[in-house]
Amino acid sequence: MNNEQRYRKQINLPEIGEDGQKRLRNASILCVGAGGLGSPALLYLAAAGIGQIGIIDFDRIEVSNLQRQILFETKDIGQSKATHAKGKLLALNPDIIVEAYDEQLNAQNIKALFQSYDLIIDGTDNFETKFLINDAAVKYNKPWIYGAIQGFDGQVAVFDATQGSCYRCLYPDKPKTHITNCAESGVIGAVAGITGVTQALQAIQIIAHHESFLPLIGKLWVLDSHTMESKILNIPRNSNCPSCSRRHEEIVLNFSSPVCGFIPEVTYDQVIQMSDIILIDVREQEEWDSGHIENSTHFPLSKLAAGHIPDCAMDKDIILFCQRGVRSLEAAQILKEQGFSNLYSLSGGYEDWIKKDQPYLKNGTKV
Ligand SMILES: [Zn+2]
Repeated sequence: MNNEQRYRKQINLPEIGEDGQKRLRNASILCVGAGGLGSPALLYLAAAGIGQIGIIDFDRIEVSNLQRQILFETKDIGQSKATHAKGKLLALNPDIIVEAYDEQLNAQNIKALFQSYDLIIDGTDNFETKFLINDAAVKYNKPWIYGAIQGFDGQVAVFDATQGSCYRCLYPDKPKTHITNCAESGVIGAVAGITGVTQALQAIQIIAHHESFLPLIGKLWVLDSHTMESKILNIPRNSNCPSCSRRHEEIVLNFSSPVCGFIPEVTYDQVIQMSDIILIDVREQEEWDSGHIENSTHFPLSKLAAGHIPDCAMDKDIILFCQRGVRSLEAAQILKEQGFSNLYSLSGGYEDWIKKDQPYLKNGTKV
């Protein structure tokens, strides 16, 4: 394989050149998550010839991922994202080394992983993992490239606490009003694409290290794709930051699994095949009164959020549902924190269920 030809277009740029290409080849990048952000970022990093790429993701490929996670195809559904992404990247560029970690990043494995790579790309969709990445990055002096999508907004920042602020200078803690989940919010795949590609570009610029490149260190780039207007905001260092204002040895890495990926979603067709289940409708009273699924129990989210817990067997499979499958994920998280396991959220919620027009459960438990 003639690598001069492969990389010629970027080597021709004086800002990259042979030296820059060598830097890319000698670099190692860990991408946390091979989803909407990780997919485009990883493809461009592999194509650019980053010598060593790590992918950590414990998820399986689902049909709902394919709208934006461009590493995957319909035939890949059910496979491990990390393993499959590795195959895809090596097919694109057999000249690089790719490691797949089919596991969840957590407070135990993060040190060894971070110490094996020069730079971290954040392809996650939840605060819990972003805080973990940030705290470990500060603790182990590792630069990382944050990415997020909120509706039509794409956001990218580079955090390197040796040179500027950190993520917790921006968000000291998880917002109280935040409703966790990736699965609930809408996104156009191309907005995830722009954001992930911008992260890849930041990585390439940081590694190539030409004086004309000014990576977004301590700055937040925000794109509003409604109008395509973008702005760059400075993130000042917070002298009381719970992370970067501390001594490294004082930073304790904490991680509690976010709801994403941990509350499995089930469809109507799957639910009717399950036996001995408890079906809980978490919609509010008015919604329940206007129609509900026979054999379901009503326990509104507002009641759960106020600290009340339904009296049901903790060892049974519990299917939570709401109108469309958003609030049920939040309800499941609350129950999970109360020690319930075997929790499922009905995807598509009540709206999908009534479309099926078979409101009877086979072997369903009436509670
Ligand atoms: Zn900070």
